[in-house]
Amino acid sequence: MPHFTVTQHSAPVDAQERASKLANPGFGQVFTDHMAMARWNEAQGWHAPEIRPRGPLSLDPATAVLHYAQEIFEGLKAYRRPDGSVALFRPQKNAERFRTSAKRLQMPMLPEDWFLESVSQLIAIDKEWIPTGNGSLYLRPFMFGSAAFLGVKPSAEYLYIVIASPVGSYFSGGKESVTIWISEKITRAAPGGTGSAKCGGNYAASLPAQAEAYKNGCDQVVFLDAVERRWIEELGGMNIFFAFEGELITPPLGDTILPGITRASIIEMAHSMGLKVSERAYSADQWRADAESGKLLETFACGTAAVITPIAEVRSEKGSFKIGKGGAGPVAVKLRTALLDIQFGRAPDKFNWVYPLKI
Ligand SMILES: *Cc1c(COP(=O)(O)O)cnc(C)c1O
Repeated sequence: MPHFTVTQHSAPVDAQERASKLANPGFGQVFTDHMAMARWNEAQGWHAPEIRPRGPLSLDPATAVLHYAQEIFEGLKAYRRPDGSVALFRPQKNAERFRTSAKRLQMPMLPEDWFLESVSQLIAIDKEWIPTGNGSLYLRPFMFGSAAFLGVKPSAEYLYIVIASPVGSYFSGGKESVTIWISEKITRAAPGGTGSAKCGGNYAASLPAQAEAYKNGCDQVVFLDAVERRWIEELGGMNIFFAFEGELITPPLGDTILPGITRASIIEMAHSMGLKVSERAYSADQWRADAESGKLLETFACGTAAVITPIAEVRSEKGSFKIGKGGAGPVAVKLRTALLDIQFGRAPDKFNWVYPLKI
């Protein structure tokens, strides 16, 4: 097991300043005092694990990632539980996906124990930053090609870093439901591409569609498949579910959809609640027709950051339509409550998903 030892402590933090930042952290705005770090090169493999003060990196202007985007990341949360202990939610799944993403971008794979240990040690040293109440500590492990050279080939060196950010609600103002924009022109992922890898380039490429969504008064984008521009795939950073009487539909995984851990967990929870779950293709036209006929009861998006977020309205160049009664429907609420109760330790961990930390 690697030892992410503290090589340097951050300057003492003013407790009052921390408390005021924690009072209303928003999402991804506030960061803790330290970061975990490790390096890779061919001769040594993974080495130099450490925890040190969070701060700017000094990079050569020829650093590979700045030119060819060899970068991947993960996102997971630490939750404070009623007894004061702290736990992660299925972090082994994040470690596994990090390896799958690395493989797709021709990067070295980080062993699971390095992933888990880096995250755990960072949380331990920055535990004062874990919010109480409904907040949580969002962890962002990432890795990039750090060798300095020009040329399209894999970097010979990599830097792995974990930073942490106390978070409240993902959507500003803690919205109960969102309006989403169907992106008809811009696609997120093509067959054979990198859609199922959590790599930075995917998100850069989705930004114009996101801008179009904002311009049309929407909070998020839903992307269609790149081949037929017909089938619903997912949002910019969340998977999607459609709720019918006794059944849930979610688009099937493939190389154009990010395999969300929240998505997988919802499928298991829904089964245990006696709901049928169909992983099958569902078109934007059918979505509109089913919403208008009332057959479709709810639609919701899911991901670690925003948990389960109901979609109340959909807009596109073809016009808009509303879903169900507009707000959070009973299926989304039931699943969201069940998931949060497991994550925050308010319900038994019957699926064995909780990873308690010894801190
Ligand atoms: C991270 C992400 C998700 C959600 O994955 P979780 O593991 O549930 O957090 C879904 N879609 C995209 C594009 C993502 O980047």
